[in-house]
Amino acid sequence: MKYVAIALATAWFGLTLPPTAPTPAVTVGARPPIPTRADPATRVPPDMLGANIKADVETIVGFARAAKDAKEIGSGQMWGRIAGFPSSDKTVVWAVDQFRQAGITDIRTQSIAQDPKSSLWLPLSWRVTLLADPAFGEGTNDIVLQSALPVGPSNIPGGTLTAPLVYVGTASPAVLQHLDVKGKIAVQLIVPQGHMLFERGAVDSRSEELMKRGAAGVFNLVRLPGNELSRDFSDCGNPCFNIGGRDGWFLEAVLDRAARAGVQDKLRVKIDLQTQAFRGLKATNGVAVIPGKSQETIVLNAHVDGWFDGAGDNGDGLAVLVALARHFSKPENRPQRTLVFVASAGHHTPGINGPRSFVTANPDLAKNAVMLVNIEHVAQRNFSPARTTASDGYREAVADSGEAPIAVGVTNNSPFLQELIDGGPPRFGVNFISERSTFQSGETGGWAGLNVAKVSVMQAPPLYHTTGEVLDVISAPGLERMARFLASFVAAADRASRAQINP
Ligand SMILES: [Zn+2]
Repeated sequence: MKYVAIALATAWFGLTLPPTAPTPAVTVGARPPIPTRADPATRVPPDMLGANIKADVETIVGFARAAKDAKEIGSGQMWGRIAGFPSSDKTVVWAVDQFRQAGITDIRTQSIAQDPKSSLWLPLSWRVTLLADPAFGEGTNDIVLQSALPVGPSNIPGGTLTAPLVYVGTASPAVLQHLDVKGKIAVQLIVPQGHMLFERGAVDSRSEELMKRGAAGVFNLVRLPGNELSRDFSDCGNPCFNIGGRDGWFLEAVLDRAARAGVQDKLRVKIDLQTQAFRGLKATNGVAVIPGKSQETIVLNAHVDGWFDGAGDNGDGLAVLVALARHFSKPENRPQRTLVFVASAGHHTPGINGPRSFVTANPDLAKNAVMLVNIEHVAQRNFSPARTTASDGYREAVADSGEAPIAVGVTNNSPFLQELIDGGPPRFGVNFISERSTFQSGETGGWAGLNVAKVSVMQAPPLYHTTGEVLDVISAPGLERMARFLASFVAAADRASRAQINP
């Protein structure tokens, strides 16, 4: 009895072991989000109610979950609503069905063939195992890092690689001059300031330097809460894996303990990896047209594709798009201009671009456009590091009462549109950041063919492109705030002159 207790206490230097099953990235407590500011005298129509829109987000997330269960990609470790696969097409079919049920009759389902020069790299199955050694303490067993996710276009000839680990911190030149990474997996620390995409440039260049110095591969310890899988970064060495927050915390501690004990050379990892480059894929755009008195069009877009559950990227945006289609199809809300709703195949799959295909397939609707509105990542809750800490110092994150900050870009900086957007926070409670902007998102970039005002409504929260982006972190009042703001915004733009929108 005593022997067993001592053995357990000393495994892996006595450190807290990482979780062996998926855990939520963010704790969502019972306290509800900030309610909407609807005047009690005004009855919010059912189409605009947050609870109803969230039910649609749940349906959209369901297409991704079903794809995971059906092992759409390899072993089912990687999933999503992936353009070129049934998960994405089924989502478009659902959206088109909602448009039809709303009474819209001009509905177009348009097929998109992947550019033959492009391919989509996907991991089919993988496992990253930290190998045990008696030097790490009695009872030490191999540990499979649950949050390890290969980064494209990683590939291991033969499918297996075993190599020692070397910690390189931020991998700056000042650090690397002291280190020999040859034949080793370089473990670099990434501390995202909010969104991972802001780290892409630094990760790419540092990884390139590590590979030049002979590293056998790269691990990115992504210091975010939870133990989520993060699909971000590319070309960061071969093979390259992102490692989630909890696993990364453990790995850093193990590297420290092994260094202190002088057994660093015994710290090794075994990587198994199968991948595939997919070509010749086909995807679909779903388009609904509500004709107005004018031929001029206002185009509203939301991409359907998403990695993992994709509740926030872009389940919430698509659900809000559908709510707006229902709203504007009602006779009392009919616009003067023609409204075009695009459930876009998206932009995650190389060689498939929903917006570009729309412009090619619908030249009249595109030519008559006066404005584009791209609805993308709009109702994730904000979160903060938890006050409570784990016994080993690791900090969880807890959802707070509002939504994550929302950036709104107006490409032509139209003062009329910017003023409408300025009215969003006081009138509808949407959490727009305080600075006016002309930014556009990746999905908006596909609309380059429209030479008009392009409005992007977008959150860039830390959980984006991770398994932490689940239904639970979507705010129902936030969905309602966004739907009601956009209904008002589109109606005001519809009443405005072309010159006001495009000065
Ligand atoms: Zn997106």
